[in-house]
Amino acid sequence: CQASHESLETSLRNEEIPVHGLSKTIVGVLGGGQLGRMLCQAASQMAIKVMVLDPLVNCPASSLAYHHMVGSFDDSATVQEFAKRCGVLTIEIEHVDAATLEKLEQQGVDCQPKASTIRIIQDKYLQKVHFSQHGIPLPEFMQIGDLEGAKRAGELFGYPLMIKSKRLAYDGRGNEVAKSEEDISSAVTALGGFDRGLYVEKWAPFVKELAVIVARGRDNTILCYPVVETIHKENICHIVKAPADVPWKIRKLATDVSYKAVSSLEGAGVFAVELFLTSDGQILLNEVAPRPHNSGHHTIESCYTSQFEQHLRAVVGLPLGDPSMKTPEAIMYNLLGEDEGEPGFHLAHQLIGRALNVQGATVHWYDKPEMRRQRKMGHITIVGPSMGIVEARLNSMFKEGGSDSQ
Ligand code: ATP
Ligand code: MG
Ligand code: MG
Repeated sequence: CQASHESLETSLRNEEIPVHGLSKTIVGVLGGGQLGRMLCQAASQMAIKVMVLDPLVNCPASSLAYHHMVGSFDDSATVQEFAKRCGVLTIEIEHVDAATLEKLEQQGVDCQPKASTIRIIQDKYLQKVHFSQHGIPLPEFMQIGDLEGAKRAGELFGYPLMIKSKRLAYDGRGNEVAKSEEDISSAVTALGGFDRGLYVEKWAPFVKELAVIVARGRDNTILCYPVVETIHKENICHIVKAPADVPWKIRKLATDVSYKAVSSLEGAGVFAVELFLTSDGQILLNEVAPRPHNSGHHTIESCYTSQFEQHLRAVVGLPLGDPSMKTPEAIMYNLLGEDEGEPGFHLAHQLIGRALNVQGATVHWYDKPEMRRQRKMGHITIVGPSMGIVEARLNSMFKEGGSDSQ
């Protein structure tokens, strides 16, 4: 309703709103997807006001936000207008206009994390250069500008070769694998050509993928969540197991690498560090997201302070909360969309129906306006006393007529 939006905007400008929450800072979030929605959920518990900027009128965060400004988070003028209305500016997506954030910072706008962090992270090649300069272990990588360069990289790194687009990548859209030199050309075409800005990574022969959510407060306190295992299917996060079933030494190494990686970036908030564990016990960094992340969704039910509450605490300057687990084990299962007419179209709804009867299970549905193939539509978190029991509870959801609680 336009009228109420207008009066709200006027009162925001006049700073007439009585504040009774845990912080008087109005948090502005660039993006209003599921991460923005879950930030709003955590904010309501603390009576912190969250405004979102998203072009979709019915974006997932819209119905829960204190205010939704309809507009592009990639448009300089719109972001500047949005920034005027909030006390601190943060993000739920890194593909925003970093130059505008830098300009806003110069004008005194409080961006958390800092624009410099967004600039580094949103270009995966720049990110790799940054982390290698800070002594973080990574798969070898190299920029490629033409077919000859890509072939040279293939000779150097061997096959399979991971070809990645530098920018605008998510859920594996932006990655192509060349199994041999003959595949390079079609992989490059699939990524939109060399002009798109490409680089290659040496294949990481991982035995597991791990992730660590790291939180940094405004006072520079850094706290790490327990290491989790992430299982991907077709490049998209499918299942997260918390904590990861790896030896103590590996947990320590993964936490140390993540701590060091986040220490090299500027600003408050939560950061997700994606890692590869190799068979010889090495930890290599895959990438960092400067925001709440899919690998941290389990924290809503399984940790004392969820990643969303932690992000808000961090950006408004409250003390960080306890990141440790309050349940022994948790599994998060992503509900991915299918096209209409595909056999799996109703699978998500079937699973939800069953999950509602599963002990320890919590259903999250993001209320996205449209279901699309491989789009993250919701997730289910199951907690329990052991991984065996939690896995059995998850498996019971896939059995016909299943869902008997254990
Ligand atoms: P996200 O949704 O996490 O942002 P993304 O599109 O940025 O995903 P990446 O994280 O780069 O994609 O890669 C997606 C997945 O592809 C990884 O989780 C991993 O399973 C695989 N992968 C990426 N890089 C490599 C590599 N160098 N060697 C082997 N597998 C890789
Ligand atoms: Mg990514
Ligand atoms: Mg990734």
